[in-house]
Amino acid sequence: MLTEFHIGIDDTDSEKGGCTTYTATVLFQELFSRGFKPSDFPWLVRLNPNIPWKTRGNGALAVHFFVEEGQIEEVQRVGMEIVEKTTVASPSGTDPAVAFLKGQVPTVLREYSTRALHDVLTVRDARTVARRANAEIHALMGVRGVIGSLAAIGAGLDSVEHTFEIIAYRTRENLGSPRRIDHASVKLMSVKYENKTFNNFDPESGRVLISPHGLDPVLLGIRGYSPQDVLSAFNDLRLCEEIERVMIFRTNQGTNAHLGKMRRTVDLKPHQSGAVTGRVDDMPRILRGGHVIFPLSDDSGLIDCAVYRPTGSLAIAARDLLPGDRVRASGGVRGLRRGRPTLNVERLEVIHLAEKVEHQNPACENCGGRCESMGRGQRLRCKKCGQRNENASKIPVRQERHLQPTIYIPPPRARRHLTAPDSRPRNVFQQVARVDEFQIRAEDYN
Ligand SMILES: [Zn+2]
Repeated sequence: MLTEFHIGIDDTDSEKGGCTTYTATVLFQELFSRGFKPSDFPWLVRLNPNIPWKTRGNGALAVHFFVEEGQIEEVQRVGMEIVEKTTVASPSGTDPAVAFLKGQVPTVLREYSTRALHDVLTVRDARTVARRANAEIHALMGVRGVIGSLAAIGAGLDSVEHTFEIIAYRTRENLGSPRRIDHASVKLMSVKYENKTFNNFDPESGRVLISPHGLDPVLLGIRGYSPQDVLSAFNDLRLCEEIERVMIFRTNQGTNAHLGKMRRTVDLKPHQSGAVTGRVDDMPRILRGGHVIFPLSDDSGLIDCAVYRPTGSLAIAARDLLPGDRVRASGGVRGLRRGRPTLNVERLEVIHLAEKVEHQNPACENCGGRCESMGRGQRLRCKKCGQRNENASKIPVRQERHLQPTIYIPPPRARRHLTAPDSRPRNVFQQVARVDEFQIRAEDYN
């Protein structure tokens, strides 16, 4: 009897190279070529991006196959071998890990995965959850990777909002050299698939965003809303180097999955992700370098919100906030500063704008000219006829606000993997595509 078998993988890469998506692709294609039937696309699961020791996007992977009871041992052996073979370790710490789970994903594991998007988890916690979920976890070097490998299996991407990414990998001999892709073709593709793909290109800076720059084997990745779309977009590119393999992933990128948790200011702990709704408590301060800090309060307390200059339009919007504005600020919690948590803002929703009032000098009672103040706390005198207007006082005039009651996010170049683009269509999770219809041969592109 066939049963579903899940393999979670985390952290097979380092700054010296490798990529956990590459490990998952090699494993997927190896099992596929041995005749195993996949039950879904491999999952690329981004976890809490605000954990400082996870520098490269905090992504974990899961692959899913139907296997006979008697084949489980073979699948596990292949999994371990490929993880070992594709790991590129570095002295600064690599924690490759593999998790195995047979059958349905239990609730305890799904809940664990949700926590891994928002909180800081411990290895000890992972071991407890693995035991309760009947999952096996293996750490090959350091132990930290067991958290991600387990969380990847529990992500349930087939039943929550998700997107897709097609990734093409370089051949071994090209690793480390500049990536050769025709940039004009990326721009054309980006326009043609504007509402079907996202984050290909940063319009403000003109930067192409589909390619990384490091020693890893990723030539490029295109993100979009369906496997058909990312494949067609990929077919439109002009590549100027050979590729070793191609894979389409189901992923939680571009869904804001890490920002879904509403928190009270009093509950914020370092490195958590989430959203706080409150009132802007004072004028924003603009720091040297253009970063913006504003205090935000709710019934439970007060925090500082930091909006960094590279977030572009988001930082510019934050400068225009006024005391009394009601906003929802989402992002990651940094450590305490002067006893107060700071939230690094990745998304700002302006819910209600306070009135902006400026007090202007009134018109002269005698000639209608403009009055001016004779000094701090002094009476007003007409600029034109010189009459002192004893009883006149400044009049409040409502000013226009530049800010809109809308959602502000950074430009594509400054977004997190998980940040939802503004073009996101509705019901993107209702994808019925089957993975076996998308087996892509690298030979066809070389
Ligand atoms: Zn006058």
